[in-house]
Amino acid sequence: MNWPLISILQLAVLAAVFYALWRKDRNSRLELERVRQAATQAGQQSIQSLNREAARQEAFLNSLVEGLLLLDENGLVLRMSRSLEKAFNLDPAYPGRSLMEVFRLHELLDLVARAKVEGQVLAYELDLPGRVARRFQVNATVLRDENQQPQGYVLTFHDVTRLKELEKTRQEFVANVSHELRTPLSIIKGNVETLLDGAKDDPAVSERFLRGILKHANRLAWLIDDLLTISRLELGKVALNIQEVSLSGLVSRAFEDLAARAAERQVRLLNEVPAGLAIQADPDRLLQVLVNLLDNAIKYGDAQGEVRAGGRLSPKGGVEMWVADSGPGIPAEAQSRVFERFFRVDRARSRDQGGTGLGLAIVKHIVLSHGGKVWLESQPGRGSTFFFSLPTPGGHEE
Ligand code: ADP
Repeated sequence: MNWPLISILQLAVLAAVFYALWRKDRNSRLELERVRQAATQAGQQSIQSLNREAARQEAFLNSLVEGLLLLDENGLVLRMSRSLEKAFNLDPAYPGRSLMEVFRLHELLDLVARAKVEGQVLAYELDLPGRVARRFQVNATVLRDENQQPQGYVLTFHDVTRLKELEKTRQEFVANVSHELRTPLSIIKGNVETLLDGAKDDPAVSERFLRGILKHANRLAWLIDDLLTISRLELGKVALNIQEVSLSGLVSRAFEDLAARAAERQVRLLNEVPAGLAIQADPDRLLQVLVNLLDNAIKYGDAQGEVRAGGRLSPKGGVEMWVADSGPGIPAEAQSRVFERFFRVDRARSRDQGGTGLGLAIVKHIVLSHGGKVWLESQPGRGSTFFFSLPTPGGHEE
């Protein structure tokens, strides 16, 4: 009787022990698996977060307009912004290469050497020769560890090409304006001095000097008017008063304004604009365009010649207008420059005719503000034709 009882008890104990051992083993295996999974997950998460960080850095470097360059402590290239890569047209396989190898500019090496000694170099002007010359303002800073040992360098590149061009244009403009103002003023001053010195006592002589004063005072007034128009146009202060404009009617108004000038040179004015041709535009500004072009055609075209104003619907939509004269024409090399402020083919002739050198610049501004284009065709000895296009409102020409 005892036997089986003992055996059953023993078996039960053994089973309990095995069960406990099995549970323990299973638990520890599960625990181990949990730890392993947790480690894998943590690893993946940290890889993901590293990837995210790298993507963020990449996006940051790609979105920078300024050029950014990172060098290690030995001056080897680590990273740079995409804008810098493009600006210097660099091979993207630059990481780990030397500065000289990548940029081939000894100025950058000098700059890094200076930054190492001085800590920071600001606003170093770097000229980049090439088909289109560029200028950069470069700042260089050394990064140091707690023992003041260089750990790397950061260089930033700011493209100042456009800024420099604008500055040059501004300086040239100021110089031109001063010159244009001084010339008539000194003539007026000279005439007044001559009159005061005795010329006033001779009516015939004094009339000549007084007429000279009037002519140059007028020139000054026109110049100031044109300067104010240009500056208002450039500042965008001229709001266009867009309405339906009959182009033939507008040419007739311009002819009336210029009738006396045309009669003086016995120039025949011909309005060849089709009667129904119309466009949405600012009539006063457009009148100014036509008056400036017709005035040039009268004064630079042949005396006793003809000036024609024409127009047609443009195949691109909108209209094309032109003013043609039978004068000496404009040399090919000057044609691309006549719309620049103060550019003249024949300076003396322009001055003598009271020209300010701003008429065509104003024409260009007004046409551009309507979304159109200006151009000219001319062959020496065979006259000039100035064209401008006006798109239908809302349209823009390429
Ligand atoms: P300006 O006040 O000198 O006439 P514009 O800007 O109107 O200034 O014209 C610039 C220059 O272009 C003129 O000085 C002249 O040399 C040249 N030009 C303009 N229109 C004509 C034309 N129809 N024929 C010949 N030359 C012209």
